[in-house]
Amino acid sequence: MGEAELFPRELTPIERELLLWLLPEDRPGYSEYRTLFAQWMVAARGRRGEGNYIIAAPTERPDNESPLPQLLAHGVVETRGGRISISIRERLGDQVEFEIMYPQLNKVFSVENELHRWTYSYWLPSQGCPACKNSLREVAMNTTAGQRFVLAVCSNDKLLWVYDEATKVNHPIPTTNFYNELMLHNNTRDPKIALDSKRLFTDLAMYPDRDLVLAFVTYNKLRAKIPLNQPIVVPEESQLSFFKRITGLFFPTNIL
Ligand SMILES: [Zn+2]
Repeated sequence: MGEAELFPRELTPIERELLLWLLPEDRPGYSEYRTLFAQWMVAARGRRGEGNYIIAAPTERPDNESPLPQLLAHGVVETRGGRISISIRERLGDQVEFEIMYPQLNKVFSVENELHRWTYSYWLPSQGCPACKNSLREVAMNTTAGQRFVLAVCSNDKLLWVYDEATKVNHPIPTTNFYNELMLHNNTRDPKIALDSKRLFTDLAMYPDRDLVLAFVTYNKLRAKIPLNQPIVVPEESQLSFFKRITGLFFPTNIL
């Protein structure tokens, strides 16, 4: 787009196609953003360089200083020309930030010669991974008031997200922060393990559902990823995992 870009401007047709693809109309948590993309113009560049923009209401002054909001939606389009990755962040006041990253900077990107695309936005519990189709580790979580969520992990792609049944949004979760909480709950201090968040995926079978739920509960308290009216119910600890924890023994859960 170059330096001469003027604001406010309309979304380009390809920006609109890619962004609306991440926002399925039949899912309430995403469709409210479709309305915003229909009403608001691109008002400014974001702070993260090429491809990062802010759409905003006409009365809003684009804010590039507040902490970057959490990721709402993410998808990838693989083309013969390279990978296009598209992200939309959660609403901040009367603005929404998006990012479309593509390989050839300063050239117009296109989805011609598209090979494959995937996004979290259409996934439902018990389906395979949206990226690789492999089967997933799923952990159901409920609040005391009956809100329902599913934590999903793909070890193959090293992806982690939480499905919210009420909004039908799949919230991508950053691995490092989640893994930190898991290590705190497990009292793991060995830096070789505690600092290597990729181990979440290789060691996944070692963690019972309860550990993953606890890690999500404290992660969500710190980052407020998903607003909860009531706390999430944490499963009881089995006697064997209690024994394992106090003795420091660490076995894959499937042999306990
Ligand atoms: Zn996968």
